[in-house]
Amino acid sequence: MSKSLQAIRGMNDILPEQTPLWRYFEDRVARLLDGYGYRQIRMPIVEFTELFKRSIGEVTDIVEKEMYTFADRNGDSLTLRPEGTAACVRAVLEHGLAGGGQTQKLWYIGPMFRHERPQKGRYRQFHQIGVEVFNIDGPDIDAELIILTWRLWELLGIRDAVSLELNSLGTSAARAVYREALVEYLTARAEQLDEDSRRRLTSNPLRVLDSKSPETQALLADAPKLADYLDDESQVHFDGLKARLDAAGVPYVINPKLVRGLDYYSKTVFEWVTDRLGAQGTVCAGGRYDGLVEQMGGKPTPGVGFAMGIERLVLLIETLDKVPAEIARQVDVYLCALGEPAELAALALAERLRDRLPALRLQVNAGSGSFKSQLKKADKSGALYALVMGEDELARQVVGCKPLRGQGEQQSIAWTALADHLATCALQA
Ligand code: ATP
Ligand code: MG
Repeated sequence: MSKSLQAIRGMNDILPEQTPLWRYFEDRVARLLDGYGYRQIRMPIVEFTELFKRSIGEVTDIVEKEMYTFADRNGDSLTLRPEGTAACVRAVLEHGLAGGGQTQKLWYIGPMFRHERPQKGRYRQFHQIGVEVFNIDGPDIDAELIILTWRLWELLGIRDAVSLELNSLGTSAARAVYREALVEYLTARAEQLDEDSRRRLTSNPLRVLDSKSPETQALLADAPKLADYLDDESQVHFDGLKARLDAAGVPYVINPKLVRGLDYYSKTVFEWVTDRLGAQGTVCAGGRYDGLVEQMGGKPTPGVGFAMGIERLVLLIETLDKVPAEIARQVDVYLCALGEPAELAALALAERLRDRLPALRLQVNAGSGSFKSQLKKADKSGALYALVMGEDELARQVVGCKPLRGQGEQQSIAWTALADHLATCALQA
């Protein structure tokens, strides 16, 4: 195929073989969030570039080098959203959803765009489910967010493969004091730092903690620790969160180096990580961002949230072999008919079945063909049963009901009894 007809690198088609697992995953998460009282919000995929610069921060990887930014025809600078929090906060402000201190528990799903180096678990268009809560400042809600993801891992059968890393970044005032101490320590050793870290030392020094360079990490061993600079308020909040996770039986490890890539976090930060996906091990990440709404022009409004990466979680479910068998099958019953009169009767019968059994996944053969070729298609469809209607069945007002997965012999069933019959065998299988 000519190059111009290929998808953009790092932007994937999700093929029919994969969509059942995606839908299963999305459905599970949606039902779980319903159960905890979260409501869905849908934001546009494109926003003014300024929104992301203001919320995410100018000196972050995302804004410095990962955004898909372009000029609209009228000259506005627009950006494909790299994450969901900024747009969610924008929508909350624009519609006054958090006005008067009212609580909002929101979630969203959709594609995000970042110009990163594509590799397993890292793409340029990827998908997230995100959750954001506004106007609750206590650790109880931080705990709820973590506990509901913990429940999700259990529902998906992947709980044993993920672990929770937790840290507190303190208030921005506390962090400013720490930042000074860190910068002083690192500046004295600047020549030993990797190049990225040396640059960050002046632009975004906390990100140095995140450095992948072993030399920089060695240097950090004796650096001032953020935990020693936590203000009392943040310490109390963090203790409250830990107490709740302990009460709910959610295991965690404190990772003092967890700082997160985005500028806007305060107090709680957390990541769910797995060692089963190679380098792209973070499947869900979030934290508290009490200063963000104000930074974006709203009244001071506490906020906390997380986002999970759908590609990575789907990959994890597959890697652990936890794809439920029942989602692989897309068809329950395949209806074959031979000759025009039988085809007409079969069509009418199919519609009556759909009236009676809305949950039945019934595929009617299209394109005619011999019984043999129709049965081959029936088998390939994955259906549990083939229904066959030829001249003889038509005359007797019955269909042949042929089990395709070795559940007994073919039976002849009257049209009038067919819905009840399928309700007991095909729908309960
Ligand atoms: P990473 O450290 O892996 O780059 P991040 O800190 O940039 O992740 P967030 O902005 O916190 O990621 O996004 C939340 C989640 O979205 C991540 O934990 C991950 O599961 C997923 N994610 C982020 N970037 C990508 C990507 N390029 N491709 C696929 N999934 C991604
Ligand atoms: Mg990233």
